[in-house]
Amino acid sequence: MYTLNHKKHTIIYIVCIFLILYICILKIKLTMIKITLPDGSVREFAPGVTPMDVAKSISEGFARNVISASFNGTTIETVTPLTTDGSLTLYTWNDADGKKAFWHSTSHVMAQVLEEMYPGIKLTLGPAIANGFYYDVDFEDQKITEADFKKIEDRVLEISRGKHEFKLRPVSKAEALEQYKDNVYKTELISNLEDGTITFCDHDTFTDLCRGGHIPNTGLIKAMKVMSVAGAYWRGDEKNKQLTRVYGTSFPKQKDLTEYLALLEEAKRRDHRKLGKELELFAFSQKVGQGLPLWLPKGAALRDRLEQFLKKAQKKAGYEQVATPHIGQKELYVTSGHYAKYGADSFQPINTPAEGEEFLLKPMNCPHHCEIYNVRPWSYKDLPKRYAEFGTVYRYEQSGELHGLTRVRGFTQDDAHIFCTPEQLDEEFKKVIDLVLYVFGSLGFENFTAQISLRDKENREKYIGTDENWEKAENAIINAAKDKGLNTVVEYGEAAFYGPKLDFMVKDALGRQWQLGTIQVDYNLPERFELTYKGSDNELHRPVMIHRAPFGSMERFIAILLEHTAGNFPLWLMPEQAIILSLSEKYENYAKKVLELLENHEIRGLIDNRNETIGKKIRDAELQKIPFMLIVGEEEEKNGTISIRRQGQEGKGNISVTIEEFASIVNEEINKTLKVFTV
Ligand SMILES: [Zn+2]
Ligand SMILES: [Zn+2]
Repeated sequence: MYTLNHKKHTIIYIVCIFLILYICILKIKLTMIKITLPDGSVREFAPGVTPMDVAKSISEGFARNVISASFNGTTIETVTPLTTDGSLTLYTWNDADGKKAFWHSTSHVMAQVLEEMYPGIKLTLGPAIANGFYYDVDFEDQKITEADFKKIEDRVLEISRGKHEFKLRPVSKAEALEQYKDNVYKTELISNLEDGTITFCDHDTFTDLCRGGHIPNTGLIKAMKVMSVAGAYWRGDEKNKQLTRVYGTSFPKQKDLTEYLALLEEAKRRDHRKLGKELELFAFSQKVGQGLPLWLPKGAALRDRLEQFLKKAQKKAGYEQVATPHIGQKELYVTSGHYAKYGADSFQPINTPAEGEEFLLKPMNCPHHCEIYNVRPWSYKDLPKRYAEFGTVYRYEQSGELHGLTRVRGFTQDDAHIFCTPEQLDEEFKKVIDLVLYVFGSLGFENFTAQISLRDKENREKYIGTDENWEKAENAIINAAKDKGLNTVVEYGEAAFYGPKLDFMVKDALGRQWQLGTIQVDYNLPERFELTYKGSDNELHRPVMIHRAPFGSMERFIAILLEHTAGNFPLWLMPEQAIILSLSEKYENYAKKVLELLENHEIRGLIDNRNETIGKKIRDAELQKIPFMLIVGEEEEKNGTISIRRQGQEGKGNISVTIEEFASIVNEEINKTLKVFTV
């Protein structure tokens, strides 16, 4: 009896212990927060865990590389305690967000140094930008010059070596205003902030108004350079005081800075403005006006070749060429909505002798093409209609924004608009992608990603068009990109209000990213221009419109191509493919005969018959980037041959060939890049 009772008690006792343990575990479990990582994995942590702790839980090695973080899409510090469930992304130097935090943090250290070196200056804003950061400073009666740069850099690095942590500290609005009572700029910034949301960032002895996004400590900054200074109006408004913008960059390794500076040198060497002048492709004239490029004969020929190349492919792809005027009635752009959106910042209306008559320079080709569609009624059987035009448009860019051919006031788009039924979207999208890929392949752009811009996941009121249509269009883009095996990134909230789009982001030879081709779905303009087609149900329906431009604009495309190839365009596009260099005047007749034969083989060539040494002629041809130099002298004339020298390959022996052999060398090389477009 006793033993039985004793046994019973022991069992109850053990059960109780387990129960208590279970409740404890459950309690801990319940208070844990769930952190979702970008790979979809979920880890549990006690509340108060920091991004850095999470990084360490993954691996110590990884944590050493983590320099910034975002939680539920908002940038936070690596030491910010996390108290709720959510998605955490950890960034290293290899991420754009990591670099951003790195550069912005360096701007704090530079600001500290500037304040030290120029007491009494007023600091304003210091954000990260592409490839570095800047700080806008009111130096008042002091002046910063290039001679000071080295001193600033040395001091930034000296402070950085102190491994000072960046610490975000909440302050009240009153406290913040008090701290900056002598700084009108910061006062203005603080006045626009809500009390309770204001933070300061401290490191070492320096404090700045800042909402965050810093690296853990200054010790990570191992290389820093002040790049330049320039004038900048406070808040970009010409009516405000002009401040001094100090540009800088920084890196986690000295080697990275050295490489970056070498890249900048190379970019300077390849600057399209410099090459365009040297290769006599285009020019600008103050008399004609800023931002209005003048195409010289060689440049115009190059453009024409590009146009013919695309026109040929477009014809195969079922496009029809149209042509529209350079101006349109103001009403046209009121209908399209462009006037309301851009009217104030554009070229102003052109008046005519007729009262009340107003025209605008064409900022877009789309409204004109809508009116072409509207010329007659269409049935679903007629669609898609694909209207293409190398249409020149005019947009008023601020003079400070103008830059060579990449930012101009008049440019020609390789524009086309496809009008189709919603059911045809999928197929049309794939076809446009094929065309874009063909263009990139023929021009040597191999490294690109496709950015798919979709609607915001939540905020959907700002988009026009029905949910059903949007879904159709978004799926059409996603499926087409997948079907074509594109390397894609999806950006939510980046779609235009009138439709989703696909942008091709191309990396050039220097690793810089450019947005080139774009394909855009539009539900807005068909609505505004009341475009219709008769469906199989005999009812009128709205077509969907696709805007697309593989080059984007001829001007910008040629600029990028110039910098990507350093002027060594693909052979098929070269203004001159070969130059005949005669060893002396004696061989001039033979040179002429060679040129004639080249022309028979449709090879573009010219003769350098100047009374110069062959060395000088070769050097000049090298500068002109002419791919083949054909040297002719006694030997060649006797044998009916030419001696070929390739551009940029000095030291390699010339090879002696007949014109026929040369023609097949040229054709073979052209066929390697320029394929025939097939649908
Ligand atoms: Zn900051
Ligand atoms: Zn358009």
